[in-house]
Amino acid sequence: MSEDHERFETRAIHAGQEPDEETGALMTPIYANSTYEQSAPGEHTGYEYSRTANPTRTDLEDNLAALEGGEYGRAFSSGMGAINTVLNLLKAGDHVVTGDDVYGGTHRIMTQVYEEYDLEFDFVDTTDHDAVREAMREETELVWVETPTNPLMRVNDIAALSEIAHEYDALCAVDNTFATPYLQRPLEHGADIVAHSLTKYLGGHSDLVAGALVTDDADLDERIGFYQNSVGATPSPFDCFLVLRGTKSLPVRMDRHCENARELAQWLDDHEHVEHVYYPGLESHRQHDLAAEQMDDFGGMLSFELDATLAEASDVVSNTHVFTLAESLGGVESLIEQPAAMTHAAIPQEEREAAGLTDPLIRASVGIEHVEDLKADLQQAIESVLE
Ligand SMILES: *Cc1c(COP(=O)(O)O)cnc(C)c1O
Repeated sequence: MSEDHERFETRAIHAGQEPDEETGALMTPIYANSTYEQSAPGEHTGYEYSRTANPTRTDLEDNLAALEGGEYGRAFSSGMGAINTVLNLLKAGDHVVTGDDVYGGTHRIMTQVYEEYDLEFDFVDTTDHDAVREAMREETELVWVETPTNPLMRVNDIAALSEIAHEYDALCAVDNTFATPYLQRPLEHGADIVAHSLTKYLGGHSDLVAGALVTDDADLDERIGFYQNSVGATPSPFDCFLVLRGTKSLPVRMDRHCENARELAQWLDDHEHVEHVYYPGLESHRQHDLAAEQMDDFGGMLSFELDATLAEASDVVSNTHVFTLAESLGGVESLIEQPAAMTHAAIPQEEREAAGLTDPLIRASVGIEHVEDLKADLQQAIESVLE
C-alpha cells in the first residue's frame, strides 16, 4: 500500500499492517517469542531476539511513524522509557532547555537522575522566546517541549522553538502526548524527535503503559535504536498489539474528545462557580490563534479554576459519578483530578501558586461519553459542595 497517498484515517488503520502472508489473518499476530531460528549462524529473517526487534512491535513502530509523518518509529515499555532514551543521546556536560511546566516524570528524570550524570537543565517559560534564547548556551544539545502543557494548557510554538534550537545546533524534541498526531504533527513544524506516552490517547483505553519516539533522520534513528536495544525498555508484543488496536480508532475517538471538551469548556466558562477555564479552543485562551494554526483541533484536555478552597475543590472531584477521580488521561472514559493535591502536589505551594497552579484548579480528561451526562455530573458535584 502506498502510505504517502493515504489520508490520516486510512493510515491509522492500515499503515504498517498487512494481512498475514501465511494465514490471511487480518490483525497483526501477537508474536509471543523471545528468539528466532537462524538458517546458518548470523543468517536470519531480520529477527533474532525480541529485545532488538519483534514483528508485532515492528508493525506498531511503522504505524506510529506513518501517523506522525516520519520515517522511523521506535516503541518503548513506557513514555518514560522513550524520554529516557532521548536523554541517553546526551553526554556529561551537555545542557538542555525545557519548559517550567513539563510533565512531572520528565522533571524528575531530568533533575533526580540525569543531573547526577552531569547533564544540566534549565526550566523556563517556553512560550517566552526571549527567555528560551537567554537560556541557550554553546553546550545546549536539546530543547524539550510539550504542547499543550499540563495542566494549564499553554501552547508552545513548535516552529519557533525548533528554529531557536537549530541556531544552536541543538535538537528539538516535542512530547506530543496531549495532542496526538491526529491533531498536531511536530515534524512538519521542524522538530527533530516526537515523543509519546502511548499509555494515553494512542492506546486510548487505559489498559496499557507504553511509549514511542518518531524521527525523520536515519542517523538519529540508528542512535535511538542502539539505546533502545542496549537499555532494553521495550514493550511486550501484547502491549504493542493493544496500541495497534487503539490507533485504528484514534481519529473517531479524538473527534469526540475534542467535541465534548469544547462544549464542556464553553459551559464551564459560563458557570457561576468557575473563575477561569484553560482550553486552547476558547477564544479567551492566551494562545488561541497559535493553537488554531499549529493544531487541527484543540484536544480533550481542559482545566478550570473553581471559586472554592482546596478542601471544597477536593470534595467536588470526590463527588463526581461519571468522571472518575484518577490521574492519567486520554482514555475513552472521563477522568478528573486536582493537580494541587494529586499530580502536582510535589511542587512547593509557593512555586505552584506562582505558576498559576492554584488550590481550586481542576483538570479533566474529557472522555467520549454523552456530553450532557458529563455536564450533569459536574453540575451535581459542584452544587453538592458550593450551594
Ligand atoms: C503520561 C505522560 C508521560 C509519561 O508516560 P508513561 O507512559 O506514564 O511513562 C510523559 N509525558 C506526558 C505529557 C504524559 O502525559
